[in-house]
Amino acid sequence: MKKLLIVSNRLPIKVGSDGNNYIINRSEGGLATGLSSLNNEMETEWVGWPGIATTTKKEEREVSEKMGDSYHAVFMSRSEVKNYYQGFSNETIWPLFHCFTGFVDYDKAYWESYKKVNQRFCDKVAEVASEGDIIWVQDYHLMLLPEMLRQRLPNNPIGFFLHIPFPSYELFRTLPWRNEILEGLLGADLVGFHTYEYMRHFASVVSRILSHKCNLGEIRTRTHSCFIDAFPMGINYDKFHNSSQDQAVNGQIREFKARFGGFRLILSVDRLDYTKGILERLRAFGALFSKYPELKEKVSLVMVTVPSRYNVESYKNLKEQIDEQVGHINGKFSTLSWTPVHYFYRSIPFEHLTALYNLSDIGLVTPLRDGMNLVAKEYIASKQNQRGVLILSELAGSASELTDAIMVNPNNEEDIVAALYDALNMPEDEQKRRIEKMQAHIKKNSVEKWAQDFTGSLCAIADKRHQRARSIINGQVTKTIAAAFTRARKPRIILGYDGTLVPFDENPAMAEPTPDILRIIEELQQKCDLIITSGRDFSSLEQWFGKTGADLVAEHGIWFKTNNEWYKHAEMDTSWKDEVDSLLQQFILKTPGSFIENKTCSLAFHYRKTNQFLAEMHIPYIIKALSAVCVKHRLELLQGNKVLEVRISGISKATTVRSLLNNDQHDFLMAIGDDDTDEDVFGVLPSHAYTIKVGDDESIARYRIENELKVKSLLNELIKVKKQRKSPGQKSGVLTH
Ligand code: UDP
Repeated sequence: MKKLLIVSNRLPIKVGSDGNNYIINRSEGGLATGLSSLNNEMETEWVGWPGIATTTKKEEREVSEKMGDSYHAVFMSRSEVKNYYQGFSNETIWPLFHCFTGFVDYDKAYWESYKKVNQRFCDKVAEVASEGDIIWVQDYHLMLLPEMLRQRLPNNPIGFFLHIPFPSYELFRTLPWRNEILEGLLGADLVGFHTYEYMRHFASVVSRILSHKCNLGEIRTRTHSCFIDAFPMGINYDKFHNSSQDQAVNGQIREFKARFGGFRLILSVDRLDYTKGILERLRAFGALFSKYPELKEKVSLVMVTVPSRYNVESYKNLKEQIDEQVGHINGKFSTLSWTPVHYFYRSIPFEHLTALYNLSDIGLVTPLRDGMNLVAKEYIASKQNQRGVLILSELAGSASELTDAIMVNPNNEEDIVAALYDALNMPEDEQKRRIEKMQAHIKKNSVEKWAQDFTGSLCAIADKRHQRARSIINGQVTKTIAAAFTRARKPRIILGYDGTLVPFDENPAMAEPTPDILRIIEELQQKCDLIITSGRDFSSLEQWFGKTGADLVAEHGIWFKTNNEWYKHAEMDTSWKDEVDSLLQQFILKTPGSFIENKTCSLAFHYRKTNQFLAEMHIPYIIKALSAVCVKHRLELLQGNKVLEVRISGISKATTVRSLLNNDQHDFLMAIGDDDTDEDVFGVLPSHAYTIKVGDDESIARYRIENELKVKSLLNELIKVKKQRKSPGQKSGVLTH
């Protein structure tokens, strides 16, 4: 059975010691719960740091042995914990990705350590992974790992999920190691985010920094496709929903009721982190009593703040400010019988947490930025009696799902005060209506479903990748094609040009055929009938291939040469060119690096040398600007690889190739091409034709070939196996034009 390898910074265990021996306790976080639902389909193993800085190999061996076979430890020294974990992960990436630029520390030593530790994770995964195992990397500590794994284990499905927000281009571009981080992530087959907004930021950053286009969630790199999608993480709904039926929880509810004096309760639960907006929340709570003094001695805030990253300076400072603010509010408003803020700086057990969820009238969740925020979901799920109100920051990832919460801007104190007042006065049927809708959503989109959706998508993507790989021409297929070619009396081969015979060049004028390609074309033409098809103008094709005797199709089918004569599809009206040219010129000015290619019957707007983001932003505007003139002159727009071409409609490479093949008595047909216009050609060929797609894009072709170099090898092989024809250059078809 194939297994699922979860790779995360921390293993879901706690390592303790009884003085002599290590003691291992499992800690069931959300991720572990979600994955347990996959147990029937596959075995799950974890790779990660056990959470202790070991000093000797003996200690490492002991911990590893204690953990058992399902957990694989990656150990770190104290300085790595400091530089990779506290440093790069928590003082560089965490503040940057949460838009706290003032806290970001760009330290080269942190970065060096991050690379080193990611590499160690890679070594460990490579050691424990078998062929076909699914590898799922978790979170911002391991963003270099997907590409490292791709280099080592190219056939395994590799997924990555980011549990924190992904920032906008303006923030991300400030990171000195931005290219490495992006390339690291793009090594995955699938990268998941909590929301479409983070996914959109990622696509925009990749397009602007690496110039890789994202099309329908697919980012094509030089070597493979990386898919991106949103998978909002859920919770174990039943566990929280059924908590009020648990005796221990019920006992705790009674105890808390007595302890908090029967006042109405507002609940706040977070790790102590500057992203959580704890200070702002406290200030708004204080302001509630200044604006509505009648609420004094009516409502209290229960604030659970879980200690976190205390050795990072900014966290220490925040803790002090929170202590001060709580003291300030309680000092100002407390009475003998009422405490406004009940503050707990500790982690609390599940029974206490769910008792508080059950008991409180309002869940106040106001992070300044949060990847998802599970507390908001847990609060709603726990409300079996459907009484309570969630106030939620619009800057939390969960805001895109929990749309029936009262939304607030966490930086707007008045907004929070107004929301608190509305929540305290919300009628019960309205509370019920809102909770019911949110519960239905949370129940359906549980953490189990999240894990299944992600791994399901990852497997489907990996299957597709393997399918594509299987259709790549191998030695056996080459032999079959070569044998059919040798046997054939009238073979025909149709070849594209840019991206098929020569690599795609930023400057089209540079992409001339090399002497090697010219030799191949000349020799092939001695052994079969060739058609070279291109979007290039006819004079370029004539200049390059005119003497070879091959049939030529230029300007996407408008011009063609057969039996050594050039033809054009009737006399064509080109009166529209000036009008289109002046429209395109306006966009040339706005898109530095773009240029117009003037062909006899078409104008092409090339943007291969421009900022891709800018060009792609302008393309819809260009299309809109051209729409009227296209209708008026019956023109069509052809979108190719970084080019938009305006041309007379109704004639294509495919229609011209079809007429050239008409009455052609060929007994072997092969077509090789790389772009959409070549796909049209594949589409008009009979099913016995050997159709071959260059590259990785979707295709209807029977086979694939990796690149132009491989095309050359294939053609050389065909030249080698077949004898020269008796009458070189002799044509077999009858022209119908
Ligand atoms: N939590 C906990 N112990 C506590 C308080 C909270 O384990 O004393 C849990 C809570 O149930 C939730 C998680 O901590 O599942 C916090 O997740 P969230 O997404 O809200 O914030 P994060 O800390 O991941 O930024």
